[in-house]
Amino acid sequence: MSLQAPEGTKDMLPDEAKFWNRFKQTAAEVFGRYGYLPIETPMFEQTELFVRGIGEATDVVSKEMFQAISGENLKKLLAGESIKGKSRLSLRPEGTAGVVRAVVQHDLVPQGAAPVKLMYAGPMFRAERPQKGRYRQFNQIGVECLGAEAPTTDAEVIIMLMRFFAAIGIPERSMRLLLNSMGCEKCRPAYRERVRAYMEEHEGELCDECMRRAEINPLRAFDCKNPSCSAVMEEAPKITDYLCDDCKEHYAAVKSYLDAASIDYVEDTRLVRGLDYYTRTVFEVQVVDGLGSQNAIGGGGRYDKLAEEVGGRPTSGLGFALGYERCVLALQAAGVEFAPAARCDFFVACVDETTRSAAFELLQMARDAGIVGEMDHQGRSLKSQFKLADKLGARRVVILGPDELAEGKMKVRDMGTRREALVDIATVRELLAHFGGLPYGGEPVPQLEEVFPVGEGE
Ligand SMILES: [Zn+2]
Ligand SMILES: [Zn+2]
Repeated sequence: MSLQAPEGTKDMLPDEAKFWNRFKQTAAEVFGRYGYLPIETPMFEQTELFVRGIGEATDVVSKEMFQAISGENLKKLLAGESIKGKSRLSLRPEGTAGVVRAVVQHDLVPQGAAPVKLMYAGPMFRAERPQKGRYRQFNQIGVECLGAEAPTTDAEVIIMLMRFFAAIGIPERSMRLLLNSMGCEKCRPAYRERVRAYMEEHEGELCDECMRRAEINPLRAFDCKNPSCSAVMEEAPKITDYLCDDCKEHYAAVKSYLDAASIDYVEDTRLVRGLDYYTRTVFEVQVVDGLGSQNAIGGGGRYDKLAEEVGGRPTSGLGFALGYERCVLALQAAGVEFAPAARCDFFVACVDETTRSAAFELLQMARDAGIVGEMDHQGRSLKSQFKLADKLGARRVVILGPDELAEGKMKVRDMGTRREALVDIATVRELLAHFGGLPYGGEPVPQLEEVFPVGEGE
């Protein structure tokens, strides 16, 4: 049997890969308007980073991480020897820990500096049981803003996320933005104790997992999908009743900025992130229909304690991550389709073998000038060459015949209107040479219609 892509992974074929590129490009454009710059961090990090930055007790770290190990170290482990901590590596299960590690390592926010605003896009890895819409390698785009405490930055990232979803075409009416505040290290401990006490009162109605969580981190019970747990937690004490004055004020300010920007949101006191370094604002964007229970397409929050967790000085921060695959499902549910990726704009056809080298040269000049072009590489008949040009999506075809060539002419056909014209080769070469002489990637790019005209009506 031929080899297949590993379980839980998928290939992005050209139509989708092109869409993914556009998706990343849109994110860079939208987030760029808010001052976000790209960062690339390694796809694997020391396991210790994720243990500290995500939390040992989470499913992600305790069950779902892919370990990465060199052949040498694997031999050592199998022989019962131990390996150094810095050789214990894992594929990144999410993007935040690596970015915050890089910010700390390179001191990107020296004290008193303006916030650093970073964005990333790329694959993440989790050894989950593969199921619909869930992959072991999946793609995320995210932003992290460090060194910013003001509620304007919270409102800004949320607005930016909603603008991105709108820009890629997810209909506004099909999205729901959930918002909550998780308090801070001053006010949350008392709240957590209240939740723990509440859970103990309802011990019989909660699952074992939740009761175990009650010991370590009771807030994680809010995420339990078990219907009985979910019903109990619905009635649990609400964090918003326990916020300290600073947190209350911060939360109210975030909401007022969102109101001013006409962003609709639903306050959901059950939206919590079960890790200690999350503080204050948390948010999640869900798609109302089409995705079932896996309906969150993006989310994030403030993590004022995370930089310290990975060994930096106290640095407030916040960010979000959005899932590419879920967005695609949401777009499909909304009836949006990928545009098929066109291979070329322009095709050069040869009437016979004698014109092939002229065709090759013309095509090369067109490409150097910035035109996407192709020719036949298999000695097809003229008729088959036209079929191929059509299949590749060419808008204009140049036909090189020995007789025309002898007179310094070539025939240009518009594939849409079928209009044809005889064009002077020298003129075309001159135009192409002009554009081709510009620096690579330089503007402007010639218009196909300008270089290969078919006459009247253009
Ligand atoms: Zn507080
Ligand atoms: Zn439960």
